[in-house]
Formats: sequence, structure tokens, C-alpha cells
Amino acid sequence: MTSQVGPTDGSALHLRGVTKIYPGTPEVRAVDGVDLRVANGELVAVVGPSGSGKSTLLHLMGALDLPTDGTVEIAGIDVAGLRDRALSGLRAHRIGFIFQDFFLIDGMTATANVAEGLLYRGLPRRDRNERAVAALTRVGLSHRLTHRPSQLSGGERQRVAIARALVGDPSIVFADEPTGNLDSHTSDDIAALFTALNAEGSTLVVITHDQDLASRFPRVVELRDGKVLSDTATVSS
Ligand code: ADP
Ligand code: MG
Repeated sequence: MTSQVGPTDGSALHLRGVTKIYPGTPEVRAVDGVDLRVANGELVAVVGPSGSGKSTLLHLMGALDLPTDGTVEIAGIDVAGLRDRALSGLRAHRIGFIFQDFFLIDGMTATANVAEGLLYRGLPRRDRNERAVAALTRVGLSHRLTHRPSQLSGGERQRVAIARALVGDPSIVFADEPTGNLDSHTSDDIAALFTALNAEGSTLVVITHDQDLASRFPRVVELRDGKVLSDTATVSS
């Protein structure tokens, strides 16, 4: 496990001067000097038009990629200081991801898909399954435990993916366009689920180009050309 827990200031996530340049001619400054602090227990929407750097920022925030410049701290841990194993450990233990395309394994039940989220925890299979059932119950799917993804609606599939992200009790959960493939009614349900999970203590960062969805969350960070254009937070980063 990761042991380099830095001085804890109650931040789930702290970005300082984070920049990501994709090389090429011309190079692309996809994320440009972003300062952002997310406290434990927050629910934050990051909104911006296509190409504004949302997905790039999500990859940096979730330690899937390293910045060209600046620092990323997750739960007080500086991502740049970690070797491969510690980085994998950080991702497996502290971070949950939810994507637009769900990424569920079709031959497996909902429970088995969620239990996959615990694969690197060294837990016995029975414990993994018990926790998976609990996570599916949290997202309102206790009646769909043995269904396979192909037997579920789009909204239900996204709930399974949310349960998989939550099952390991991560410090922070990132969602990239989680309602991008859902109709507006189902999107509303998923937004309400995020609000409910946040009320139970989960820290969530939801990336979306949907202003409507974003406006339902307590804090909205607006991204434009890789920079923070506005942030409704009252505390400075
Ligand atoms: P968003 O998710 O808001 O649509 P992205 O983070 O995907 O934005 O992209 C931000 C900018 O970076 C865009 O101009 C995009 O073309 C560019 N970009 C994204 N990924 C790469 C890459 N791997 N190589 C080069 N440019 C990229
Ligand atoms: Mg994107």
C-alpha cells in the first residue's frame, strides 16, 4: 500500500499549476495551469464544451496520466513521487472511475462485474461478492444481482458501473460524461443517485458538457481552453 500520506489538509484532491501539453506541430496545451482543490465530501461538476480539456484533466486528476507541469495530490499523496507499484496501489485503493461507455464485461453477472473492482485488494472471493452485493444495493440494484449487462437498461448498466467504482470505498470517484449515453429521464436519475451517494459521504467529481446536469450539483467548475473559467466554490484553491 501507499504510505506517503502527506500533511492532510482535508483535501481529497489538490491540483497546483497543472498543465498538460500534447507534443506535435503545433503542440496542444490541453490543460493550462489549473489550480483546483476538492475537499473530502464534496460533489463537484467540471463542465466545458468539447475540446476544453475535460477528459485530459480527468486523466490527470485520476493519476492515469502525469502532468507536463504542476502537481497532483490525491488524498495528500503527490502522484509524481510514486513508482509504478505505488501508483497502481493508489489507483486500486483510493480512486474510482465511471465512464460514459460503462466498460462492463458482458459474460459476467452484475455482481461479478462489481466484484472485479476489488480484484487487486487480496480479498477472498466470498468477501468480494458480499461487498459487491452491498454496493449494488446502494445504487438501487438489489433486484438485478444476477443479470448480465445485455439484460440491463442503459441506466441500470451505469448503476452497475457506479457500484463497481464505489465498491472499494475510494477516497474520490471520477466520472467522465456518465450520462453521455443516457436519455434525459435516466440522466436525471443518475444525477439524483450522485447526490444521494454524496450525502452518504462519497467525494465525487463529475465531468460533463451538459450544463443542465452540472447545475444540479453544489459546486460547478467551468473549463475553457484548458483553463478554469469560473468556479462556484467559496473556498479558494
Ligand atoms: P474534452 O474532453 O473537453 O472534449 P479533451 O481533454 O479530450 O477535451 O481534449 C482537449 C484538447 O486536447 C483537444 O484540443 C484535443 O484535440 C487535444 N487532445 C486530446 N487528447 C490528445 C492526444 N492524445 N494527443 C494530442 N492532442 C490531444
Ligand atoms: Mg472528453
